[in-house]
Amino acid sequence: MITVPPHLEIHDDRFTKLVHPMSRLEVIAEGFTWTEGPVWFGDRNCLLFSDIPSQRIMCWAEAEGVSVYRANSGFNNGNTRDRQGRLVGCRHGMRDVVRTEIDGTLTVLAESHDGKRLNSPNDVVVSSDGAVWFTDPTYGIISNFEGYRCDPEQFGRNVYRLSPKGELCTVVTDFAQPNGLCFSPDEATLYVAESGSSHDPSVPSVIRKFAVKGNSLRDLGVFAQIAPGLPDGMRCDILGNVWTSAADGVHCFAPDGSLIGKILVPQIVSNLCFGGADGHRLFITATAAVYSIFVDVQGAEPWTRRAKFEG
Ligand code: MG
Repeated sequence: MITVPPHLEIHDDRFTKLVHPMSRLEVIAEGFTWTEGPVWFGDRNCLLFSDIPSQRIMCWAEAEGVSVYRANSGFNNGNTRDRQGRLVGCRHGMRDVVRTEIDGTLTVLAESHDGKRLNSPNDVVVSSDGAVWFTDPTYGIISNFEGYRCDPEQFGRNVYRLSPKGELCTVVTDFAQPNGLCFSPDEATLYVAESGSSHDPSVPSVIRKFAVKGNSLRDLGVFAQIAPGLPDGMRCDILGNVWTSAADGVHCFAPDGSLIGKILVPQIVSNLCFGGADGHRLFITATAAVYSIFVDVQGAEPWTRRAKFEG
């Protein structure tokens, strides 16, 4: 009989098929301040991630270890890729969403709505039609730790959709603080984290679920409650399970919303992504470090499953 290791917590048999009991949780990079925004670049066989307070985007590769990908990142937080493989990130410092072109130049995609500056875009996903969906809480402007302290100009903390033609619209306006977000594998569902309990204990720590109807969303209510802590970044796997950050590690929820297992991590988890040579390695940003664990399922984002980039 194989003993379940102490870093795995199994709540449902479905989880035993997703993480092998011999999978080790390892630290692959450490010595940072607050890591976030992991994104896999399989075509370069490396992981990019943010260290927000030090204003750097770091690069980790199996053979080379850690290097600086970008200094002076403007307090870059969440990252993703579009279907052309370009890095798309959220910068607290410039309060924008920015794309890194193939030649390395930067293109600002969104920085204002209704003539007012965004709060501090936090996390971002790109759907297969090229639309950019992002959250805009105030974390990057409420202190100088992760950005520049400033009063918000927006009426709320919204979720936005930037159309492929460049039109920016709100799609949800009733979050206390929207944070991480991810699509189901078929992009019919968008999950968005509510992390407002960070500053207001009366706000429930939940992941909300929305049906995607073209340019807009229909609220399907609460998908999952997160405890301990709150949800920040998250990703779906190809089976539709939602892997989310929490205070004690990574929680895995089945598509029906039931908690099926946890990967316990010694530091508070901010975000995670799938990647690795075969697409079934989980990379976890957690406070001062980045952890990795092999899992038995691949990520929903198609470009994380192939070494050669194909959107
Ligand atoms: Mg976040």
